Amino acid sequence: MNLVEVKKVYINYHTPQGETEVLKDISLTIEEGDFISIIGPSGCGKSTLLNIISGVIKPSQGKVFLEGNEISGIDTRIGYMFQRDQLFPWLNLWDNVSIALKIQGKFHKDAKDYLNSLLESYGLASFKNYYPHELSGGMRQRAALIRTLALSPHILLLDEPFAALDYQTRLKVCDEIYQIIKSAGKTAIMVTHDIAEAISTSSKVIVLSKRPSHIKKEVLLEFGDEYDTPLKRREAPEFRNYFNAIWKELDFND
Ligand code: ADP
Ligand code: MG
Repeated sequence: MNLVEVKKVYINYHTPQGETEVLKDISLTIEEGDFISIIGPSGCGKSTLLNIISGVIKPSQGKVFLEGNEISGIDTRIGYMFQRDQLFPWLNLWDNVSIALKIQGKFHKDAKDYLNSLLESYGLASFKNYYPHELSGGMRQRAALIRTLALSPHILLLDEPFAALDYQTRLKVCDEIYQIIKSAGKTAIMVTHDIAEAISTSSKVIVLSKRPSHIKKEVLLEFGDEYDTPLKRREAPEFRNYFNAIWKELDFND
């Protein structure tokens, strides 16, 4: 069974200026363990597509299935992570990573132990009493991911998660976040407009056209076993070919 199935999804937005056709006949499937990137020009509807998969927005036409059942509204099996880490500045790190569990009434011993083990594994255990402004951008992004993982989602949606970071930090944080997701055994769908980031993390890259956007191409990625992290993949001989294949599909310049 597919973890996620998007079936013939269309979305039109109605505005005072008229109707905008944003997504046009989008179908895709995601299997357990996949890391999918969605790439496309700015404004083509990438965030809209993630919102549809998460159940936040209902498509104008078409359906989304999660583990075989049609999605109807927000679902706790889905974890969402955004470009800005969205930590609360007035809460320390521990309160930030545990707040979602508290709200959902799931702040039990097992959950606390899981949170502690994640903080320990990812170098944040000694920063529990620190406030977000006292942490680096990378630490904040890791904290945001840990907060999301604490809810045990079956799938993670990442909307340009590294876009607010400078280039060097971005490479490092992408590497860290990828490894956290993989060791937690999670499936992920990431929106990005960075081709290299998509190639370095993904099992499949989906290229969207400009609006009204449809799927222009799906590129399956395979690398040798030794290229098992985003930073190492950038060194792989196949990297450049994948880059060129995706680059020529993108409508960035028209
Ligand atoms: P992307 O994430 O690819 O940059 P978005 O999904 O944010 O694109 O937006 C796609 C298009 O839909 C844009 O043209 C945007 O202006 C429009 N749009 C997004 N949300 C709404 C909304 N709630 N109402 C009307 N138009 C919207
Ligand atoms: Mg967006």
